[in-house]
Amino acid sequence: MNYSGYAHIHTIGCQMNVYDSEKLGTVLNALGYQPTPDPEQADIIVCNTCAVRHKAEEKAFSFLGRFARDKQKKPHLITVMAGCVAQQEGNNAFQRLPHLDLVLGTQAFSRFSRHIEALKSGQRRITDTDPSDVIFEALPDDTAFAENPVSKFVTIMQGCDNFCTYCVVPYVRGRERSRPWQSIVEEIKVLADNGIREVTLLGQNVNSYGAKENSLSFAGLLEKVAAVDGIHRIRFATSHPKDLSEELIQAMAKLNKVCNHLHLPVQSGADRILKKMNRGYTRELYLSRIDALRSAIPDIGLSTDIIVGFPSETVSDFEDTMALVEQVGFDSIFAFAYSDRSFAPAARFSDPVDEAEKMARLNRLLAFQDTVTRKKNEQMTGRVLRVLVEGVSAKQHDGFVKTTPHTRQMTGRSETNKVVHFPSDTLTPGDLADVRIDNAYPHSLWGQPLEQMFQ
Ligand code: SAM
Ligand code: SF4
Repeated sequence: MNYSGYAHIHTIGCQMNVYDSEKLGTVLNALGYQPTPDPEQADIIVCNTCAVRHKAEEKAFSFLGRFARDKQKKPHLITVMAGCVAQQEGNNAFQRLPHLDLVLGTQAFSRFSRHIEALKSGQRRITDTDPSDVIFEALPDDTAFAENPVSKFVTIMQGCDNFCTYCVVPYVRGRERSRPWQSIVEEIKVLADNGIREVTLLGQNVNSYGAKENSLSFAGLLEKVAAVDGIHRIRFATSHPKDLSEELIQAMAKLNKVCNHLHLPVQSGADRILKKMNRGYTRELYLSRIDALRSAIPDIGLSTDIIVGFPSETVSDFEDTMALVEQVGFDSIFAFAYSDRSFAPAARFSDPVDEAEKMARLNRLLAFQDTVTRKKNEQMTGRVLRVLVEGVSAKQHDGFVKTTPHTRQMTGRSETNKVVHFPSDTLTPGDLADVRIDNAYPHSLWGQPLEQMFQ
């Protein structure tokens, strides 16, 4: 097959990886590649990997493994493993994937272009896991590899110093470092000029932004970002309960552009397990932070992460988690069965929980949360939510009726991060609209726009 000039980037894992993939896309675009959703079409295939759980790691090996035979038909095909699994595995990746061309670690992205050029001139099996690249990327070009036309992730920090005992992140993404606020604001100004209306500021622990550098606090950064014209909404992830300051809660309450939503991972409701996880807070402290948030921002939407089946977690510890979830009443949760990561200390903890028991606990937690999420969504009916319009819905709702030939079913998100679908002739991506909610579903809301707000 001839050279086509197409590149395919497959992203596994978190929001940070979505951001990193767009950066890799920017580099490929500058080298003359166009994106294709079809890996069969591509001359270069990149898998941006996640090492947080065993399953995610296996997905990366199985995705890249598919292209061994294609290389025989297409000798110029370049295959790349990027990100956390690449950093963790280094040269070992070639043992399972002998046809792989480049292993690009988490701190080697600024050398991606150079490595691609070397591969194009015939070099093979390059590994770059050098942790020396602490430079935050330059301003992005708005490339064809972007995923959302109105909302973008912006990295404000890299790495993590918290060393939760289950987590591989500090080992594969290095120590915590904050990006200078001027560079963040410059990037966001460029995004706003290119039509982006919402930014999500990303870091493993955004609440400690600037602390190590003794510079601007995260609350201070929010003020700077809120001053950027054209940006309607600001979100951020992830917050750590131990660093959620009163200053930040007050900034969230005061700054209209900062969404009434917080993702605050609790991980467990049992003090004994929180201690073994090295989370640095107690159940009581977590609940007091939730109270402080709700008294400053009464209609705040809350979500969390939970790990079930951490080594030595008893039935009673798990019941503490269930009780906390019931008490807080989260809008949504991300729950995971504990997965051993060989770099992380918990892999050597005694008293593992049986796999079947882990899955039973996970399923019970998820089933309970489904009922809570459904109830929370039902409470939205009759209310008017301000929605940032993202585009035409991927799937048409059963109740969708065309009132004119131009009516489309649009989709967007409320400030509290709920997906809202509604019919419209006129609204376009980037508009803010007030939508009256008529129906609630397990994962979305359906309503009628009252009027167009502003663009
Ligand atoms: N920095 C964030 C924090 O402090 O919560 C999130 C980091 S991690 C990439 C995302 C989530 O994956 C964590 O909140 C945790 O619930 C989950 N996670 C991390 N390591 C895990 C493991 N070994 N097994 C299962 N889930 C894990
Ligand atoms: Fe991992 Fe804990 Fe750091 Fe989050 S705070 S990235 S869970 S070590």
